[in-house]
Amino acid sequence: MIPVIALVGRPNVGKSTLFNQLTRSRDALVADYAGLTRDRKYGDGKLGEHEFIVIDTGGISGDEQGIDEKMARQSLLAIEEADTVLFIVDGRHGLNPADEMIANHLRRSSKPVTLVVNKTDGINEDIALADFYSLGMGELHPIAASHGKGVHVLIDKVMLPY
Ligand code: GDP
Ligand code: MG
Repeated sequence: MIPVIALVGRPNVGKSTLFNQLTRSRDALVADYAGLTRDRKYGDGKLGEHEFIVIDTGGISGDEQGIDEKMARQSLLAIEEADTVLFIVDGRHGLNPADEMIANHLRRSSKPVTLVVNKTDGINEDIALADFYSLGMGELHPIAASHGKGVHVLIDKVMLPY
């Protein structure tokens, strides 16, 4: 069985950028507009010797109405479908109330969760990470999805049990 990895987090943290890195596709919609990817999107992931399926999601903002509510529901479905979840936060913007809401949801799900701090390119990593220890999700994994920084190390770690 090929493991399924879900990318979960609030809009604009870089989920689609990471999806593109992992699938080498330009298909996932990457934009500066929060929440433009509205549905779940599946890709064939390959990195080194690892093969996996990756699910991109529109994101959970914590203030869901209309289309946002549909996006959030898609994210919850993706978590259900996944073997393992990458919970992505934005190292440039720091901790956000939506991050805490998502963390609480993930704690209630039985899925293994890896906390990923994205956008750590060109900034002080220790300062970027400091905000997120309070989420209580264990070890933090700094990456820069747009540069591919830290992505291989992250996937090696996540794929270890499979
Ligand atoms: P999503 O809404 O979570 O799917 O986020 P996107 O992948 O669409 O990215 C949102 C914005 O963050 C875009 O402008 C990306 O170019 C930018 N972004 C994504 N990853 C990185 C990164 O590692 N570093 C920086 N500096 N910007 C990034
Ligand atoms: Mg997206």
